Amino acid sequence: MDDEKRCGHCGNSVPKGYTVCRGCGANYRGNPKTLSRGIILLIFVIWISSHIISRSHGSDIITGILSSLVLIAVPVLLIRNGLRKKWYRFNA
Ligand SMILES: [Zn+2]
Repeated sequence: MDDEKRCGHCGNSVPKGYTVCRGCGANYRGNPKTLSRGIILLIFVIWISSHIISRSHGSDIITGILSSLVLIAVPVLLIRNGLRKKWYRFNA
């Protein structure tokens, strides 16, 4: 059943191992735009978090670490989305 996949644009069957649809020319790949946004956001969140934690005292450090973990979930989701392969008709 996994021998071939279907193009997300024209529905043409694409043989396993192929990343380009012969029917419409769509590409099966991740999204580098989403991926790079996720990486930039991740660096930003780490930078902000280190500032928050370094300026915290006592029990505030725990709050700082917890809020950093919440913040870090956003870029991690973006990176996961960017790595997930989809059909792209144009160089989006
Ligand atoms: Zn196609």
